[in-house]
Amino acid sequence: MAIAQKPIRSLVAAMTPEELFTTALGLGQQWRVVECRFEGEPKRLELRLEHVRGQHFACPQCGTLCGVHDTIERRWRHLNFFQYRCELVAKVPRTWCRKDGVHQVQAPWAREGSGFTLMMEALMMLLSAEMPVDAMADLLDEHDTRLWRVLMHYVEQAHAKSDWSAVRRIAVDETSARRGHRYVTNVLNAENSSLLLMVEGRSAEALGAFAKALGEHGGDPSQIEAIAMDMSPAYVMGATEHFPHARIVFDKFHLMVLAGQALDEVRRELQREGADLKGALWSLRGNAWNLNEERQEQRKNLCRQYTKLGRAISLRETLQAIYASSDRQVAEAELDWWCGWAARSRLSSFRNLARTVRQHWDGILAYFDTQLTSAAIEAVNGIIQLAKRMARGFKNFVYFRTAAYHRAGKLKLAVPTIT
Ligand SMILES: [Zn+2]
Repeated sequence: MAIAQKPIRSLVAAMTPEELFTTALGLGQQWRVVECRFEGEPKRLELRLEHVRGQHFACPQCGTLCGVHDTIERRWRHLNFFQYRCELVAKVPRTWCRKDGVHQVQAPWAREGSGFTLMMEALMMLLSAEMPVDAMADLLDEHDTRLWRVLMHYVEQAHAKSDWSAVRRIAVDETSARRGHRYVTNVLNAENSSLLLMVEGRSAEALGAFAKALGEHGGDPSQIEAIAMDMSPAYVMGATEHFPHARIVFDKFHLMVLAGQALDEVRRELQREGADLKGALWSLRGNAWNLNEERQEQRKNLCRQYTKLGRAISLRETLQAIYASSDRQVAEAELDWWCGWAARSRLSSFRNLARTVRQHWDGILAYFDTQLTSAAIEAVNGIIQLAKRMARGFKNFVYFRTAAYHRAGKLKLAVPTIT
């Protein structure tokens, strides 16, 4: 026993707390912990660091070894010491260089301008992947604006460096705030469902902003071959103006949403005329094969009783079936036939839809050539909603964008590792 204990005891005896922390922080040759204070209410650990006297430091501008001009005291929050807050305090030297004058030396444990150590920032970035900034602020007992600043630094740096030169097919979509009328436009890489750009508004200029950003990310507007979007005239105009080589694709999803709305309109009209359709909503929405037997039966009976409803459902289901075609020529003929049927259906909402289809003919058929869908939008929308909660809605657009890039941008963050 006595023999086993001996080396441990001698190690402890040989190391002061200051030396212990110097080693634990991995400070290297130039810095050492000169004082540890554990005091205050609530208790906190304060480690005072000093540079080793007589050391020369590299000038932050030119790298020449220079003498120390003076020092400035600075403070950084570090990883907690058990449950206690821990801060590093150091008198950071300023070098005097013949060529560049006086400059503050970069402390090896922190990023310039940050009030946190690199290890603390690494922890924050790790947590931010899992929780909203509010929750992080509570957990770390830190003001959320300070956390956002760290998050924004790493996310914006990674976003600025991301390479878009291989992007060929994109999807454009808008996200609205739950309340109010603020919108943002999201531009996604349709191939890998990553969020490339988020800009305020939903005008044609949103696509202009993407064209410009593409240039800053190693790309060129002429490389974009196809753009999936809804039928908003603003996006069509933006795409035509800024991406003249790209095909506009109005995808299946958006058209089926319109067909669903047309059906709803028929149902409401019947209700206004006195039809008893209470509780019928769920048996009319969606596809028959997704309904249980009771609802299938209900749907059948309603269609028999109200022939308008039956026609509307048939029109919607047929339109969906046309999308199953993998041949553009077949699809074109079928869609043409469908438009004729809808126009003669004596259902004004479907007559309008047929007109809409005719007006967007090329873009709708472009789907059958490109098979480009807004699946990317579907994939990313949930993540963007999560980001919105993370940033507490639209209170601050930059926070929302940062959270969205962080979660949906597939960025390569250059975060320091905790070692
Ligand atoms: Zn210099």
